[in-house]
Amino acid sequence: LGSSREKNGRRILVFVRARPLTKKETETGARCCVRIMDRRDVYLTEFAAEKDYLRLKRLRGRHFTFDASFPHSATQQEVYSATTSELVEAVLQGRNGSVFCYGATGAGKTYTMLGTVENPGVMVLAIKHLFSKIRMRSCDGNHAIHLSYLEVYNETVRDLLSPGKPLVLREDKQGIVAAGLTQYRAYSTDEVMALLQQGNQNRTTEPTRANETSSRSHAILQVLVEYRVRDGAMNINKMGKLSLIDLAGSERALATDQRTIRSLEGANINRSLLALSSCINALVEGKKHIPYRNSKLTQLLKDSLGGSCNTVMIANISPSNLSFGETQNTLHWADRAKEI
Ligand code: ADP
Ligand code: MG
Repeated sequence: LGSSREKNGRRILVFVRARPLTKKETETGARCCVRIMDRRDVYLTEFAAEKDYLRLKRLRGRHFTFDASFPHSATQQEVYSATTSELVEAVLQGRNGSVFCYGATGAGKTYTMLGTVENPGVMVLAIKHLFSKIRMRSCDGNHAIHLSYLEVYNETVRDLLSPGKPLVLREDKQGIVAAGLTQYRAYSTDEVMALLQQGNQNRTTEPTRANETSSRSHAILQVLVEYRVRDGAMNINKMGKLSLIDLAGSERALATDQRTIRSLEGANINRSLLALSSCINALVEGKKHIPYRNSKLTQLLKDSLGGSCNTVMIANISPSNLSFGETQNTLHWADRAKEI
């Protein structure tokens, strides 16, 4: 994978992960409309009404190809190794990287990013990987890892590690920072899962469904790695940053062109998600001006998107025929992101 990024000079790698059908979906007779072949190809089938042969013929065999595609049987470790482990190596060389999970509510974003205690996801596996790499370096005393975990909800930024008042974004020498954001110094992997789970619990919930994270909430984990290298008689401070982003549900907010983005802007659609689409479109089109300033999410990710940053998109999809429309939209959007 590292070589695929270098060979074609692409800065974004795009992956797709299908989750298993849930028990409830199976019980209500949902059928699987997603087939993944050779770890790359995604085939999407729409089940049309039985007599609707013409339609069936037209819809059959929609096909997409990504850098890798993961069937429901793929493990968290497999997904991590193929998508993110390369970024961790880059961060340890002082570069920035980011991983986004994208997809409709219920498609498996939080499972992929955070996971469970038994099956930890990308966030935890990345930190574990960082610690093990640092232990192998001779000068491990020189490394510091700081974590910050924040939420963007309704264009308000909140600290998930220390909930309280909304945070103000400020521009300083290092770029855009959230003033007063907790920088948690991590010394081992053990404490991290509990910390992140607690942080995830602090995400905004909808008043009507008190225990469910709002589908409009974005969570961003930033892992800052600082270290010193010796260059002759000098010590040089270096820094790499890994941003891991569990995006808001993308339903109704998928846009692959500027016209759709504009028409959605009026419709109370998640502003940060649209702004992210706009930035990605501008990057696709090779524009000089990337509209980072249009939302809190894109301001926070300014140094983690485009430029020399390596970016990974994981599009999460449900295999259920009842989610066909959302799955198709997600795959179209992911297909477009490949062009960056
Ligand atoms: P999202 O964050 O996109 O709304 P979740 O990550 O909460 O979706 O996933 C919805 C449900 O599906 C959860 O119960 C989750 O545990 C389950 N799930 C998602 N992906 C997987 C997977 N790869 N394997 C097993 N269960 C999964
Ligand atoms: Mg979620």
